[in-house]
Amino acid sequence: MSDLELFEEIKQKLIEQNRSKEDIKSVEKAYHFAKKLHEGQYRVSEEPYIIHPVQVAKILVDLKVDTHTLIAAFLHDILEDTQTQPEEIKELFGDDVLSLVQGVTKLSKLKFKSNEERQAENFRRLFIAMANDIRVIFLKLADRLHNMRTLNFMAANKQQKIARETLDIFAPLANRLGMGKVKAELEDLALRYLEPDKYFEIAQLVSQKKAEREQTVQLLIDKISKDVKAAGINAQITGRAKHYYSIYCKMKRQNIAFHDLYDITAVRVIVDSEKECYEVLGLIHSQFKPIPGRFKDYIAMPKGNLYQSLHTSVIGPRSKPLEVQIRTWQMHEIAEYGVAAHWRYKEKGSEKADNASDLQFSWMRKMVEYDKEMANATDFVNSVKLDLFSDQVFAFTPNGDVLDLPKDATPVDFAYRIHSDVGHRTIGAKVNGRIAQLDTKLVNGDIVEILTSKTQAPRLDWLNFVVTKQASQKIKQWFKKNNREEHIEIGRTNLEHELTKTVFDEYQKQGEFEKIAKQMNYISEEDLFAALGYGETTLNKIINKIQKPKEKSVEFRTSTRKKSEKDIIGLEGMMYSFAKCCSPIPGEPIVGVVTRSKGVTVHRIDCKTLENIEPERMMDIQWAGTNTNKTYTTTIRVETADKLGILKDIIAAVSDNNTNIINANVKSRNNVGIIEIGLELDNIETLKKVTNCLQALPDVFSVKRIQTSSQNKQNKQNNKSKNNGKNKNKK
Ligand code: MN
Repeated sequence: MSDLELFEEIKQKLIEQNRSKEDIKSVEKAYHFAKKLHEGQYRVSEEPYIIHPVQVAKILVDLKVDTHTLIAAFLHDILEDTQTQPEEIKELFGDDVLSLVQGVTKLSKLKFKSNEERQAENFRRLFIAMANDIRVIFLKLADRLHNMRTLNFMAANKQQKIARETLDIFAPLANRLGMGKVKAELEDLALRYLEPDKYFEIAQLVSQKKAEREQTVQLLIDKISKDVKAAGINAQITGRAKHYYSIYCKMKRQNIAFHDLYDITAVRVIVDSEKECYEVLGLIHSQFKPIPGRFKDYIAMPKGNLYQSLHTSVIGPRSKPLEVQIRTWQMHEIAEYGVAAHWRYKEKGSEKADNASDLQFSWMRKMVEYDKEMANATDFVNSVKLDLFSDQVFAFTPNGDVLDLPKDATPVDFAYRIHSDVGHRTIGAKVNGRIAQLDTKLVNGDIVEILTSKTQAPRLDWLNFVVTKQASQKIKQWFKKNNREEHIEIGRTNLEHELTKTVFDEYQKQGEFEKIAKQMNYISEEDLFAALGYGETTLNKIINKIQKPKEKSVEFRTSTRKKSEKDIIGLEGMMYSFAKCCSPIPGEPIVGVVTRSKGVTVHRIDCKTLENIEPERMMDIQWAGTNTNKTYTTTIRVETADKLGILKDIIAAVSDNNTNIINANVKSRNNVGIIEIGLELDNIETLKKVTNCLQALPDVFSVKRIQTSSQNKQNKQNNKSKNNGKNKNKK
């Protein structure tokens, strides 16, 4: 078919679409203008070049795009392939057409090279970001579709490359735009070049099964048509094979051969209203058993690309599973033409597409939101946040990988996004082939080459301009790591000073720091010290994590005390506690005993338990003073006459001396009252006063300070009372 004949077809369609005479005239003008400019140019197929833009326009007229887009279709290659200046287009066709043509030209310069799926996603985003106007994407998709239709004229290696790009970039784009028809054709064409064997196998089998398919549909129609008519529903029922690529995917996914694939046929029912969709669904389900779990209501819950339909699978005629799609005519049009159809409905309603930007904005937003790969909420939120990608920049590596970076990202951010080693070694950057400052703000489509040197190290001033967290973290980390020895030393010294060397060494021997390091997600003890050294963690955090395992060899019961209280000279910064056995109080001579894991235990120098302690574990310590502003506990034993009211007198005497009673245990044995009282007081002088006061009471026989251990208290007391009893008995 000649280009003129094709153009006549387009013109006919425009008339059918009730386009204004002026519109048709300017489309015609565009055709003649392009034809003249492409004069003498030929495609690989040896056809005159003008065939291509006319075919692209023909695809677009079927999508019923607006007139400017149609004009741009004719002109879409002239900026790149001819000497035409933008001003000329502007003069002849206006600003809008020019910006569309420039948009397509700009996109055609993007080359997608990477094989990674993630890259494909970025590339699609870049595409959308750079297109600015959704109509540019229509143009680009139509352009690609025609190129795919004529791909057989290309060299084999080019076919593969273009087909791959089509499958990775353009078919998903069409899908997001809801353009099901374009998407399916792009996928099938791509498959033909990427997997020719599979493609032709499927094509052959689909055509072989055509008769069977038609019979199936006919049987279905026979079964339900009466009911459909009775319900007053005007339905068009068709059965068609799914497109090849979807059959291919299914075979691949389920790893089955073609003849095992039962549902390559999809029955499509198109009705007038949404209500009728559900009615037809009911009719079908009453005749054919639905397959559980296959019903999907995309009417109530449209897909992200605004696709609507009811989907169900039933055990169809001849007991074969059958997929059924039910939709209205309007839903059908949207399923086939997607955003283009929306465009059209909008245009009808509002005379002119003056709300076009609103519509395209919401569509682009939807395109971003809609992505099956976006499995989690974070991705979703991020994608919504991207909006029109205004806060993102897409830049290329020289290999063609696209990196998405936040707005204002610099070559240093880019370098760290590639790899932290690349970042660390950056000495310079080329942007679009030219040496650029490292703080240059990148823009969409920049090709960035990072220049590195093995001896280069990051610079602290980079922190002033990098915008990615990744870069700033890596830079900071580098500085931490590279002063590692120093940091370890600082951290270790701090900790040693806080705990004292003795305790520190003890902990280290026990592997306590290794344990804490693991708990705090550091690899080793050294990393923990380093982290402390450069301030990533604090002394308190580490000390709070120190475990206090039960002592094994040293059986002292101790009450732990905060190490920060400086009441003892010789234990500064150390963890220590007071032995419960002897409960030392300020003013009496004391000694420190180094324990395995609890720091130092403070005993009275006359404590009996010290007899079993090796001298090398003892530390020379003394009270900082008698007035430490703190209280200490100790226990006294008072023997009294077994007399009512004696306890009251004792309590009064104790309280008079500014001393608290924390517990009291009263017993009576052979007419002797035995009262053990736990006291809380400040120093030895107070204890003496209390003792003196108590002894002054007429009914008190004796007052003694006693040694107990809190845990064994009960037992010991029991033993004691037994012993006492025995003793008394012996007496
Ligand atoms: Mn083209």
